[in-house]
Amino acid sequence: MIDLRSDTVTKPTAAMRAAMASAVVGDDVHGEDPTVNELQEATAALLGKEAALFVTSGTQGNLCGLLAHCGRGDECIVGNHAHTYMYEGGGAAVLGSIQPQPVPTGDDGMIDLAAAEAAVKAPDHHFARTRLLCLENTTDGKVLTLDQMEASAEVAARHGLSHHLDGARLWNAAVALGVSPAAVAAPFDSVSVCLSKGLGTPVGSVLVGPADLIDEAHKWRKMLGGGMRQAGIVAAAGLYALEHHIERLADDHANAARLAEGLDAIDGVKIDSCATSMVFIRLDDEARDGGPDLRSRLTDRGILTRWDGSRSRLVTHLDISAEDIETAVDAFTELLA
Ligand SMILES: *Cc1c(COP(=O)(O)O)cnc(C)c1O
Repeated sequence: MIDLRSDTVTKPTAAMRAAMASAVVGDDVHGEDPTVNELQEATAALLGKEAALFVTSGTQGNLCGLLAHCGRGDECIVGNHAHTYMYEGGGAAVLGSIQPQPVPTGDDGMIDLAAAEAAVKAPDHHFARTRLLCLENTTDGKVLTLDQMEASAEVAARHGLSHHLDGARLWNAAVALGVSPAAVAAPFDSVSVCLSKGLGTPVGSVLVGPADLIDEAHKWRKMLGGGMRQAGIVAAAGLYALEHHIERLADDHANAARLAEGLDAIDGVKIDSCATSMVFIRLDDEARDGGPDLRSRLTDRGILTRWDGSRSRLVTHLDISAEDIETAVDAFTELLA
């Protein structure tokens, strides 16, 4: 199967499974799992932060971060399309009584910083206390530049706000920008990164930041039920991925660019955007008439896609080869001919 639905569908490689099978483990709730400790130290070092916490998911990483930064009734400024705002079940509001203040997101994936600055509330008993500014990089595959992130850090500093990055796909941003992961993380106090998307591990994310913040996040992780015992088995996959699966993201980006190029040549297919590992396409009416059941006809050829009406997001990853891309382009071309 050529599964273009998401980079979360990757399966651990044989070498990754071997690393997992031989992991030295202990009870991480007592801080005694050497492999979890090693993953936390390695991730903190790679991202240039003091401390790190291994968590079950990106959602839990963001949530532990937000809960550690904000108290009840505090406010978090966030993009109106951001994952933390749109796709995490309102967890920060439910569990932390944190009030989100959404601001518009531009076509480039960056929030409207002027709107963010205007949304910062003055100290007044009538207002929620604005406490945190959040960015997301990448967002729909699009990469925020170092300048954009720096400008956001300046706004946060000017207003005494903490600065958090949802860096689920920070690795893709670093590879696309040609900079170190630490350079992408530098403008932020805290960053949540996923190991189970482009990096291809079965489970896990890491929250990084200053030691006192990570200590507070650790308490929240316990409350959220995120304390895992011999978690070194999955942490070993993360360590393996940090070493072997970051630089190769450049292949995913090249495959996405080639996919977009191939699909763009088909009459009736529009490329809405192509950035890092994601290609967003749209079928015009003519093509839709030509392939009313395109998804199932692609599936019949072993190509899995996900559609929202006439639009689809196609994602390249560890389990998609350059050859698979040619197979997919040929299938789209024939089915829409
Ligand atoms: C996937 C994702 C998350 C959440 O990760 P889960 O592991 O699915 O909880 C957070 N932010 C962004 C931008 C994501 O793409």
